[in-house]
Amino acid sequence: MNQLHLYNTLTRKVEPFVPLKTKQVGLYTCGPTVYDFQHIGNYRTFLFEDILKRVLLADGYQVNHVMNITDVGHLVSDADEGEDKLEKGARREGKTAWEVAEFYTQAFKQDLVVLNILPASKLVRATEHIQEQIDLIQALEKKGVTYKIADGVYMDTSKVKDYGKLVGLKAKGLKAGARVDMVKGKKHPTDFALWKFSPEGSKRDMEWESPWGVGFPGWHLECSAMAMKYLGKTFDIHCGGVDHAPIHHTNEIAQSETATGKPFAQMWCHGEFLLMDGGKMAKSSGGFITLKNLAEHQVSPLGYRYFTFSAHWRSKLSFSWEALQAAQSAYDRLLELAADWDEPKIGCAEFEQQFMDAVNDDLNMPQALAVVWKLVKSDYPDSAKLESLLKFDEVLGLDIARQAERIRQERKHIPEKVVGLVKERDLARTEKRFAVADSLRDEIKHTGFNIMDTPEGTRLRKIA
Ligand code: AMP
Ligand code: ZN
Repeated sequence: MNQLHLYNTLTRKVEPFVPLKTKQVGLYTCGPTVYDFQHIGNYRTFLFEDILKRVLLADGYQVNHVMNITDVGHLVSDADEGEDKLEKGARREGKTAWEVAEFYTQAFKQDLVVLNILPASKLVRATEHIQEQIDLIQALEKKGVTYKIADGVYMDTSKVKDYGKLVGLKAKGLKAGARVDMVKGKKHPTDFALWKFSPEGSKRDMEWESPWGVGFPGWHLECSAMAMKYLGKTFDIHCGGVDHAPIHHTNEIAQSETATGKPFAQMWCHGEFLLMDGGKMAKSSGGFITLKNLAEHQVSPLGYRYFTFSAHWRSKLSFSWEALQAAQSAYDRLLELAADWDEPKIGCAEFEQQFMDAVNDDLNMPQALAVVWKLVKSDYPDSAKLESLLKFDEVLGLDIARQAERIRQERKHIPEKVVGLVKERDLARTEKRFAVADSLRDEIKHTGFNIMDTPEGTRLRKIA
């Protein structure tokens, strides 16, 4: 059996993963805030989490995976100020916050399917767990760690002795969790809202009665409440993007552990950012790329999935169309090869072991991809390569079997005329009549096919 090693933000070490219960894993991953489309930066994080889950499954664990949908309470600023992102989305689109949430939740679910991300065991909405969140505030109230001000009910972080341990805030003088602007009445910069009151004189689309007044839950509360409801007070792994560690996850830990007196998650894994123009790709900055934008540049969702394997999950990855298109070509080539190969038979044990070693070594996907290509270029029979590749695909999730079959079907239906044009182009290239070859490529494109020059010869791919 393989032993998975993972970097744990909490201990700042790569350590062996030891589940709380034999053969079972409780996994919580922070989900999307559904006020806009998710961008490919968000999906980098969801894809890293999917790889983690697939590796756990390949290692023989049963994974109980919970993901939340943030459909209320996530404010524009992390300092408990500014508008609720959902209410902002509603104003932008002239809809209710409920309609906006529903629309982008559906869009998110569709994206997960085309990215071949395994569905969570439970995908749960914050707005469907208001009572659980109120219960948690009451538990904290009983411990004497909350206070009420004009704006809402707050958590007094000075009463949490190890507040900020996830990112070593104490050592940093509590600076990382703090913001310059402070809500009036807040006692300490790192205190955070548990319940916010609806603004006086105005009605929000989403608001609820509570023992403290009409309002809505603070963003951090939902993940604590839902994780503990579905996974228990202590569970195995909690994930999110790196931006979540200093505030969101720090506050989740403070609330949960203060309320229960028990450790919350054993391991914390934070995926690094996808960068655009040197900075984090972000919804708030406006300049972000969605799956639809990728399609406009002939990059498929699975081509993007392949691209994310080019960097380790704890390293930054820079977006560029060139890099993305190179990844798409490599992915296409892999599929073309798989489509050439016969029935899978006994695989290549040597490469299968190398692959499992790579993914169990802190999810080293660049190394895993290197093993894929070593296998492809090896002298093993094609049937063995196919068998191993399909095994790898349980972790890679590149949908190789189905995509290869699609290519086989497409190949059967290439019109005679196009086959003739390809032959003419191949001849023109051999005779170095490149201008003719280029115009033939354009002509082929007009018939609905892209042409690819690969070491195995000329390939055609139907334009989607
Ligand atoms: P949000 O919808 O803003 O709540 O974000 C959903 C997930 O995407 C969170 O885990 C974020 O940490 C993550 N995320 C946001 N921006 C990026 C980015 N540029 N690269 C990678 N992950 C990101
Ligand atoms: Zn969360």
